[in-house]
Amino acid sequence: MNRQRLLERFLRYVQVDTTANEQQESYPSSSGQWDLGRMLVEELKTIGYADAHQDDHALVWVTIPSNQADAGPTIAFNAHLDTSPETSGKGVKPQVIESYSGEVIQLSGDPQKTISMESNPELQQFLGTTLITTDGTTLLGGDDKAGVAIMMELAETLAEQSSLPRGEVKLLFTCDEEIGRGVDHVDFEKLGATACYTLDGGGANDVDIETFSADLAIVSIQGENIHPAIAKDRMVNALRVGADMIERLPKDQSPERTEGRAGFIHPYSMEGGVASATIRMILRDFDTEKLLEYAEQLEATAKDVQSAWPGSEVTVEVRKQYRNLSEGLRREPRAAAYAFLAHERLGRTAKSSIVRGGTDGSQMTERGLPTPNLSCGQHNIHSPLEWASLEEMVAAGNVAMELVKIWNEQPSL
Ligand SMILES: [Zn+2]
Repeated sequence: MNRQRLLERFLRYVQVDTTANEQQESYPSSSGQWDLGRMLVEELKTIGYADAHQDDHALVWVTIPSNQADAGPTIAFNAHLDTSPETSGKGVKPQVIESYSGEVIQLSGDPQKTISMESNPELQQFLGTTLITTDGTTLLGGDDKAGVAIMMELAETLAEQSSLPRGEVKLLFTCDEEIGRGVDHVDFEKLGATACYTLDGGGANDVDIETFSADLAIVSIQGENIHPAIAKDRMVNALRVGADMIERLPKDQSPERTEGRAGFIHPYSMEGGVASATIRMILRDFDTEKLLEYAEQLEATAKDVQSAWPGSEVTVEVRKQYRNLSEGLRREPRAAAYAFLAHERLGRTAKSSIVRGGTDGSQMTERGLPTPNLSCGQHNIHSPLEWASLEEMVAAGNVAMELVKIWNEQPSL
């Protein structure tokens, strides 16, 4: 990996505003994702990858051809172009801190905002290294432009080391991951890979091999509206019914009171009025069967609420979202095993970790492509206090290089 070139790439990509927009039905949800994708295609073509292209949905594809007759299977790497809508990604002004001294980092655009060791104890391990922050007014977008930059640097490094034995490597840059649409338009046949790695994890040396299983519950409440002046014994206020529904959910089964492997039911939005209201809730657990229990629990609560509020109607619809990564990874044990081996060969110790959320890999794995998620130097994501570590990005790039070699060798497990 060329450290300086990797840094320059990262700085270039974070300055393109690719904020995902949940309100937007179009795909991708923001025009900046087209812009960044176009930039990547141009760079890939300059490197010499003639087949690099942006498809009709703004996904960017490139094939790094095998240079061997008896090469190992095709593998793929994935990162997403969009950034989280939780904090603005417009006008990102990255600050590079070389040889971090341990001092409080002032963010120049907002005097109130600082990054200190006190609030980020992990910074202790980054003394003397290169960090990248924003000016405090936007997010940085290391999630997932760190992954994007690393994959681009991988492409260029493989082009430079043209005699390094390799199987076919596909790079896929997706859109709108942050709003749950990351794999909506992925053509798995076109990808044609045996395993894939998302470069979309925090810090270093994590191999995410378990994620939540996830469903969405939509609770619809019908009330009865009438002018308040004549409402006595006639009005049924859907908002009050909805509030009662939420009140009856066990408080300990919430994201704010659980950690580790514990799951939850999380009401995250309620909208409507007296006549009708809708509550959206996410159901999460590492054990997929638990989701069924949560759904039954909601059904039972809905029934109770409905009888407590005569004239109301409360219905629950559950939609499947994604499933625990580990279920699909069992089908291709090499996917995770080779990731651990890659770290080992680089003298690093990888930790297998569980993600209290989903990754694009959860959905890719469910669709039949085993896809663990790897660290790529992200910290404090989705926040104006976000920072990224260049050293960790370089390390992630080296892990990716090692994976290319290992999959070509196909050592037995
Ligand atoms: Zn991400």
